[in-house]
Amino acid sequence: MPTIKNNISSIQRRLQHAASDAGRTPDEVLLLAVSKTRTSAQINEALEVGIRSFGENYLQEAVEKIGALSAANLDWHFIGPLQSNKTRTAAENFAWVHSVDRLKIAQRLSAQRPEHLAPLNLCLQINIDNEPSKSGFSPQQALEAAVEIADLPNIVLRGLMAIPRARAERAEQRIPFAHLRTLKDQMNELLDNSRKLDTLSMGMSGDMEAAILEGATIVRVGTDIFGSREKQST
Ligand SMILES: *Cc1c(COP(=O)(O)O)cnc(C)c1O
Repeated sequence: MPTIKNNISSIQRRLQHAASDAGRTPDEVLLLAVSKTRTSAQINEALEVGIRSFGENYLQEAVEKIGALSAANLDWHFIGPLQSNKTRTAAENFAWVHSVDRLKIAQRLSAQRPEHLAPLNLCLQINIDNEPSKSGFSPQQALEAAVEIADLPNIVLRGLMAIPRARAERAEQRIPFAHLRTLKDQMNELLDNSRKLDTLSMGMSGDMEAAILEGATIVRVGTDIFGSREKQST
């Protein structure tokens, strides 16, 4: 069996194990295949074994692949940094944006989401380790912006996303994920019943088990599905 398919089987086993350790069922966790820098042929291999959701970081690259694979009716998630002059492309082409890092980005996505499409699903990116090199709301800023964003038309605020700094031990990896879960609970206390958050986008190739133990509902896996990325650093 080709490598990508083997890799997906082993990721699915890891996901099942972690879910069972957490007392959860595997269908509570979406496996998002991060396909940045990968070709449409590689994506095709993943969709032959049932993967329907793909994550992309670079808009222009993504739009080409979305066009090439449009007949397959896939769910495309934008997970990369989003400049405000590029929001229209994201609003027109994706089902989800995980990387909303300020109010203005959410407002533009809301205004630019075409009316004939389903509302755009949004996650607020949280700079959970407070790293100067990373984008994202601070937890406090996110709490302050949540109600206003949740009230915007043409979008649904679904939850929170984070990319913690790498940690070697699972016990340490769980700490920032637990913080993100707590922040989502705090935010839900501020939001109306019809606006409650249901999504934690957290966990990648190296720390997906820790994230699932702390309640991840979407894990974003690139390397362990498609192999290492040689050129790009993200
Ligand atoms: C690249 C990327 C991933 C996937 O990371 P891997 O370590 O390759 O699994 C997940 N999330 C974001 C935001 C990324 O940019």
